[in-house]
Amino acid sequence: MSVLVYIENTEGQFKKSAFEAISYGKAVADQLQTEVIAISIGTVKEDELQKLGGYGAARVLNVSTDNLSSFVNQAYASILATAAQKENASVVVLSNTFSGKGLAPRVATKLSAGIVSGASALPQINGDTFEVQTSAFSNKAIATVSIQSAVKVLTINPNAFPSKETGGSATVEAYTPDIPSTDFSTTVQEIVRATDTISLPEAEIVVSAGRGLKGPENWGMIEELAKVLGAATACSKPVSDAGWRPHSEHVGQTGIVVSPNLYIAIGISGAIQHLAGVSSSKTIVVINKDPEAPFFKVADYGIVGDAFVVVPKLIEALKKH
Ligand code: FAD
Repeated sequence: MSVLVYIENTEGQFKKSAFEAISYGKAVADQLQTEVIAISIGTVKEDELQKLGGYGAARVLNVSTDNLSSFVNQAYASILATAAQKENASVVVLSNTFSGKGLAPRVATKLSAGIVSGASALPQINGDTFEVQTSAFSNKAIATVSIQSAVKVLTINPNAFPSKETGGSATVEAYTPDIPSTDFSTTVQEIVRATDTISLPEAEIVVSAGRGLKGPENWGMIEELAKVLGAATACSKPVSDAGWRPHSEHVGQTGIVVSPNLYIAIGISGAIQHLAGVSSSKTIVVINKDPEAPFFKVADYGIVGDAFVVVPKLIEALKKH
């Protein structure tokens, strides 16, 4: 028995969420008194693969062939399922990212496994039964999902479980399973934005602004605040619909779901559809000139004031520290 963790990379570098996933897998493996095995697909250098040992991986399966350098959903799912069978994995862990969300149901189907998407905590394990917490109804409730299947597939939300260095080392093994050519009939191309800004789904701090900012010409102070804090920028739906900001920044029910340690909402009313994408943030700070704005009801800290006065003062104060 083992726990298998899929480790995602972007252009050969492991994502932050990947280290969270291996740490989560290690914690599950410890509960099951077994080992955690990492699997990486694509072109990743040996020293990057070796890092996984420091987070608890006993072994790293390295699948690196030319036709797998970009994401191919069907083929990656076949590789993960084949590896899970080879390693007799009772649990397969993936990050709940764009690719993880696409892969996990396919892997679960191939393994006849129960699946929980968007786990927010470690499972309670009772014999063959896993009880896993996940958010439900656009984050308005926490569901506890119970799975009893012999193999379980779990995807974990970015920022929900911290990565933890264990100081170990792993052996890296080349792994080349036979994948049917039909798995390559459809390819999904991940479009990576050519920018050095912080990835929104994985950001620990998000500075987000809404229609209260009046127009795209006023985003300079939002970008500056984000830069001072080392944060990613985000926005409400009407802002991206109006073309003030790119669609990749739109958070909410119909956009990206984020769960940073700190979410700063500036000039956003707090409509239910927006909250659906941000309510699992650990700390929410709201800046709004209307004291009745619904966002204040879910805020940990609130500033009632004009964003054009408050934000420059905030930047000034942060720069002094
Ligand atoms: P507004 O509602 O116009 O709010 C602007 C806020 O700025 C107000 O609270 C105002 O008091 C404040 N303000 C104004 N001036 C200042 C100032 N100078 N300083 C400080 N504060 C100021 N929305 C999303 O965001 N994400 C989604 O995924 C999403 N999905 C949707 C799906 C459906 C099916 C539907 C119907 C709607 C969806 N919406 C979504 C839209 C959502 O209902 C709201 O209309 C939207 O979130 C409002 O955006 P906003 O808060 O930026 O704008």
